[in-house]
Amino acid sequence: MRLILFGPPGVGKGTQAKLLSVRFNIPQISTGDLLREAVAAGTELGKKAKAIMDAGQLVSDEIMIGIIRDVLRSEKCRNGFILDGFPRTVHQAKALSDLLADLHISIDSVINMEINEHEVVQRLGKRLTCRNCGRIYNLDIDKLADPTKCPKCGGELYQREDDKPETVRKRLTVYAESTTPVKDYYQHAGLLRNVNGVGSIDQVNKDIVASLNHR
Ligand code: AMP
Repeated sequence: MRLILFGPPGVGKGTQAKLLSVRFNIPQISTGDLLREAVAAGTELGKKAKAIMDAGQLVSDEIMIGIIRDVLRSEKCRNGFILDGFPRTVHQAKALSDLLADLHISIDSVINMEINEHEVVQRLGKRLTCRNCGRIYNLDIDKLADPTKCPKCGGELYQREDDKPETVRKRLTVYAESTTPVKDYYQHAGLLRNVNGVGSIDQVNKDIVASLNHR
């Protein structure tokens, strides 16, 4: 199974990608996580990407396509993958199509998770991420005994720099301008499945699985 999870920041792509990854036993490929790992490791890529990410802008297509090319060619993606956060521009989507054609594989479905802007700003303002295991928590939904510590692994919980309200608004503008056209690209290809991203994690997950069964 080869899937793309598509939708604005804060819709729950990461959360759902993790669940689908366990269910179908295929890796979650989050370009945001890969970049944050590069930032934490202080690599050349991380140094270039940090300021761009903190400003809520997109890292260049050239860099992102290079990253995805390496990952999709790796052994771990042999039996499938879930792309989370890629492609984010039509140029990236076209480059992905070329890359997949070279590898003689194709995308099965693009899940378009829908949510309104107000809900996004609300959610991201309450989002905490574990620096160690990457799990995501919501201050309203997850009753955390200690909001500084991950209940699963004990790692430090932090608010992403780009989850601050001004940056979230910038990310939404970038999404509307650069990323929304990607939806039409996959609509034309007949791959798009729309799913309501507002609801419990479990409900959204059921809706995604149902949409995959109705291919
Ligand atoms: P995410 O964790 O998916 O919200 O990504 C966090 C940030 O990483 C984004 O706001 C961008 O700055 C950068 N990023 C992640 N994926 C991409 C991509 N496909 N193209 C460009 N920038 C990306």
